Amino acid sequence: MFTSTRGQIPPTPIDVALVAGLAPDGGLYVPGAFPTVDFSAPAGSLAETATRTLAPYFTGSALRDRLPAICAEAFSFDAPLRALAGPGDHVLELFHGPTAAFKDYAARFLARALEGLRDPAAPDTTIVVATSGDTGAAVASAFHRRPGFRVVILYPDGRVSPRQAHGLGCWGDNVAAYRVAGTFDDCQRLAKQALADDALRARHPLGSANSISLGRLLPQAAYYAHAASHFLAARGETLNVIVPTGNLGNACAAFVARSMGAPVGEIRLACNGNDTLPRYFAGDDYAAQPTRATLANAMDVGAPSNFERLRHWHANDDALRAGFVAESVDDATIRAVIRDAPARHGEVPCPHTATALKLLQDLRAAGDARPWAVVATAHPAKFESVVEPLVGHAVEPPPLLAEGLARPARAEALAADYDALRAILAR
Ligand SMILES: *Cc1c(COP(=O)(O)O)cnc(C)c1O
Repeated sequence: MFTSTRGQIPPTPIDVALVAGLAPDGGLYVPGAFPTVDFSAPAGSLAETATRTLAPYFTGSALRDRLPAICAEAFSFDAPLRALAGPGDHVLELFHGPTAAFKDYAARFLARALEGLRDPAAPDTTIVVATSGDTGAAVASAFHRRPGFRVVILYPDGRVSPRQAHGLGCWGDNVAAYRVAGTFDDCQRLAKQALADDALRARHPLGSANSISLGRLLPQAAYYAHAASHFLAARGETLNVIVPTGNLGNACAAFVARSMGAPVGEIRLACNGNDTLPRYFAGDDYAAQPTRATLANAMDVGAPSNFERLRHWHANDDALRAGFVAESVDDATIRAVIRDAPARHGEVPCPHTATALKLLQDLRAAGDARPWAVVATAHPAKFESVVEPLVGHAVEPPPLLAEGLARPARAEALAADYDALRAILAR
C-alpha cells in the first residue's frame, strides 16, 4: 500500500496511485514501507531485475501477472556498466532507448502500466506533458500508437536543442507537439492548469506522466539494482553512484534501490547552475530558486519536485543532509569537462553526464579510491550543438535516435495562453 508525503490519505493501492499521479492531499505517493529483495544472486537480464524489484509493489495489482511481460517490453534495451579510463571509474549508460535518455525506461513502463489499467470502454486519455526536452520525447515514444491514449507535448520554442526539437515533433499519429512562445515554466503552468480544469476533464480525460509519478519513480530503481548487484557479484564491492540531477527522480530511484537492499553505496548529486539542492545540502534552509537556463537543460530545475519524497524518507533535515552530497557545476566547467573527457576518461559525455564526471574528478583529486559509477543520462549526440564544437568531431546518433531523426518532424506554434491549449484539448 502507498501513502502520501503529506500523510493525509488512507493507505492506497498501487493501481490507484499509478493512475492518479499526484496524491489527493497534494503530496507525492510513497511506499508505506520499502520491501526488501534479495539481490545477492544477480538476475540475467535487466528486465528480470526489474520484475524482481517491482514485484513486491504489485502483489495487489491488477497488473501482477502481466508484470514480467511489461518489464520485458519496457526494459528491452541494456543499461551497461562500463569501465572508464581511471581505476574504479565507471559509467552506467542509460541512453540506449529510443530517445537516447534514461527517461525512456520509466516512460515505457508507465505507458504499459496505464494501458493495462485502462477501462477499454472509457474515452481516450490525453497525456499532457510539459517538457524542457527529454521528458516529452520519452513520453511521446512510449505512448506512440498505444490505443486509448493521445499525447500533447508543450515545449518552450527555441529553448531545446535542434535534435531535441526533432525528437519531440517526429511522432505523428496520436502524438502532437506544440512549441510554446514562452519558457519551460510557462509550459508547466499550462499543463497544470489543464490538469486542474475539472470541467474540461469531465468530458476529456487527461493524464500526466511527469517525474513525480510513481510509475516513473519505481521502475528506475531497476537499473541501479541490476548494475550494483552484478558489480558486487563480480568484484565484491559496493558501487557508489553520481547522478546528474534536476527533479531528483533518478536520484530518488537510486535511494529506493538501496533501501530495498540493492548494494548501492553512496549517492552523490551532480547539479548544474541551478543550485537549490547544493545550497540545501550545504546547510541552508530549503529554498526553491527561479529556474536558470544552462547547457544541461534537462536539469534546469529550481524547485526539484521529488525533494519532498527525499525529505519524507529521512527523520529530519540533519539526517537527510548527512546522507547526500550535492554539488553545482557551472556551464564553463561543463564545457571544460566535455572538451577533456575523451583524453581523460575515454568518453564523450552529454552536458548532463559531464556534471557527474566533474564530481568524479573532484573525488579522485581528493584521494577517494572507491568504485564509482557516473550515471550517463543522455547520449551526447542529442546535444550535438554543445558537444561537437568542444570535441572537434561529429558525434553519431545511436541507431534508434537516428531512426527518429530520419522521420519528418512538425510542431505547431502555441501562445503561452491557457485558452489556446484548452481549445486543443477540447477537440
Ligand atoms: C531528466 C534528465 C535529468 C534529470 O533527471 P531527474 O530525474 O529530473 O533528476 C538529467 N539528465 C538528463 C539527460 C535528463 O533528461
